[in-house]
Amino acid sequence: MEKSLKNLLLKHGFSFKKAFGQNFLTDTSLLAEIVENSGVTRDDTVLEIGMGAGALTRELAKKAKRVVGYEIDYKLKPVLSETLSEFNNVEIVFKDILKEDLKSLEKSLGENYILVANLPYYITTPIIMRFIENAKCVKSMSVMVQKEVASRLIAKPSTSDYGAITVAVNLRGNASIIKEVGREMFTPPPNVDSAVVRIDIDKNKFKSVDFAAVRDAVRCGFLSRRKMLVNNLMNSFSFSRKDAEAVLIESGFSLTCRGETLSAKDYITLSENIKKVKETSNEN
Ligand code: SAM
Repeated sequence: MEKSLKNLLLKHGFSFKKAFGQNFLTDTSLLAEIVENSGVTRDDTVLEIGMGAGALTRELAKKAKRVVGYEIDYKLKPVLSETLSEFNNVEIVFKDILKEDLKSLEKSLGENYILVANLPYYITTPIIMRFIENAKCVKSMSVMVQKEVASRLIAKPSTSDYGAITVAVNLRGNASIIKEVGREMFTPPPNVDSAVVRIDIDKNKFKSVDFAAVRDAVRCGFLSRRKMLVNNLMNSFSFSRKDAEAVLIESGFSLTCRGETLSAKDYITLSENIKKVKETSNEN
């Protein structure tokens, strides 16, 4: 760990809390590279979640127009006041991001903000899903995740890493790994290696889609990975075999296909035909 930061944490009697997933990054060239690859420019407002001691915040503040940072641990207040003292474009909110109202948060951030987060691993997936499914104004998200989660976010259909979260991401945008980060780069080091995944949101991708219905279809597709989709359709929607097969035929899929072979676009088609067959069987 960089000596100055170590001294600063010592000076303020700070001790790392495992419960908050406090593994800090200090290598300024690594942090600068993450910010660079996140695509942050002088025109951007950045929402940073999990500021820690503010090392990443500093690099963001050098590049962005405005940084709004969330940190759950109020004990970091004196540390952050010092590390960020030279910047007048950073606002700090000491609050659990999971308790923040997304609608009012987005109102204060404005259109096309960038999300950057290095968070405890147990909340990265819920946070990604929350912003993917509900955020209206986010332009891109660059989030540090466990390497295994990174593989899932960028997976291709018909691979073992491909899952509901991959489809959810593909419905809104495109994901890529922008930096691999070894465990030794953190203080204290966690038990796993990490990667920063950037998800670029494409607001025109699959416009006017009933996302709630697609989500139900995706949940069905991955209900039981080893089962054929026809069986998952019967279990999820109480379809008869005949109706479940009609959904697959209408969608142009094989009767023996599995959910893990379908793309995001295929799931949209599937959800539309689930609706159609439901309506027809209700009429009869
Ligand atoms: N960004 C810093 C860095 O890169 O060194 C710190 C990263 S550390 C992995 C995660 C930070 O997120 C910790 O400072 C922790 O206190 C904070 N945190 C954990 N849960 C949070 C939550 N629900 N809302 C806001 N911050 C949270």
